This record gives sequence, C-alpha cells and structure tokens, in this order.
Amino acid sequence: MTRALCFDLDGTLAAYAGDFRSYLALLFHELLLDGCDLSRFAEVVREELSRDGPLTLERALRRALARLEQRAPGDLSEMTRTALHAYAEDVRAAPGAAELLERLRRRSVPMALVSNGPVDMQRAALAALGFGAYFRTVLVSGDPDVGTRKPAARIFSLACTGLEVLPSETVMVGDSVADIEGALAYGMQAVLMGSVEQGARLGVPSVREPGELGALLEQRFGL
Ligand SMILES: [Mg+2]
Repeated sequence: MTRALCFDLDGTLAAYAGDFRSYLALLFHELLLDGCDLSRFAEVVREELSRDGPLTLERALRRALARLEQRAPGDLSEMTRTALHAYAEDVRAAPGAAELLERLRRRSVPMALVSNGPVDMQRAALAALGFGAYFRTVLVSGDPDVGTRKPAARIFSLACTGLEVLPSETVMVGDSVADIEGALAYGMQAVLMGSVEQGARLGVPSVREPGELGALLEQRFGL
C-alpha cells in the first residue's frame, strides 16, 4: 500500500523563473572581483552550490572567493541576505503545484520535501512559495542535520523516518535521475516529472507538470 509522498522542489514543484546566469553576474559585479572573469566565477560558484555537506549561499560564495584567491568583502553576509531575497522572489510554483498539495493535504497524505542545495536558498524559496506548511518534514541537503545529497540513501531514509513510513509505502516525485534512481535504490516507488521517454528509460511513470499528477496518484497509487 502507498501511504506517503516525497517531493523534489526545483524543476518539480517550482522553478527559478529568472536567468541564473544573470543572477550570478549580479553577484559578480557586486563583489567587485579583481582579475577574475565572469565565466570562471560562475563555474566555481555553481560547483560550490552543488557540494555535499552543510551548505549556505554565503558559505558557497566564501569558498568560491577563496578558490579564486579573492578577498571576501566585509559586508558579504548582508549582500548574501539581499541575494537570497532576490532569488526567492523569482521562484515560481509549477502549474498545478499549489492545487495538488492542497488536495493531498485534504486527503491527509503525509508529505516530505527532499531537496538538494544550500539550506538558506531552498528554505527562502519554500517560504516565498508558501508551501512549507504542507510538509511534515523538510530535508535540504545543505542543512547540517542532513548533510547528504540525493541520490544518497541517507536523505531518503531521513524522509521515511520523518514520515513514519516504510520506503516501499512511499512515492518520490522528482525531475532528475538522482531523484528517481536514488529513491528506487532505497526501495521507494517513483514518478518522474518529465517526458514519457525519460520515464520509460528510468522504468517509472511520468507526468509533465504537477497538475497532471493528481490523476496518476489516484489511479496508480490509490492516493
Ligand atoms: Mg529537481
């Protein structure tokens, strides 16, 4: 029997509507870096934002600046707070996401959010979307209490523990290979937010957007 759901955030329930390269370019110009070009800065920041272990935007920027042999400005914390706000303002719910979460809440389906990324960025996005209250547990890889990224089993294990369900009773919904393969390897079921072709390749059902998920959950999983 299927009893619970885990959701990815980026590309599944929501997406950054801005241009992330322009976002990084803005940070680059604010940091007034010396002798460093934008593409190298963007590459290093992207790498730092996908690191394992405890992670915040500020921490990623500090590490990137150290790697680029640049001095971190004294007001980096404040600059980061402004940047977080700007990021969250441009995160948009995917079509049908709010209605889907509301429907599942009415049906008392326990839900977890399982997201890779810096804890402050993901939490700011979740707050801006107003989705936080739908989830019994929120697991962000950058949270020091989580510290592990999908597809690692530990993050899925924390989700099932938080939901008080067995992996086999739980469906992971996500748009990446890490979401699907990680969940399946841990013994969960999975639904891809993506194309039918990719779903078939991964051996799981797929939907294009959250608005289509309700019917599939009902027919296939009885949720
Ligand atoms: Mg995703």
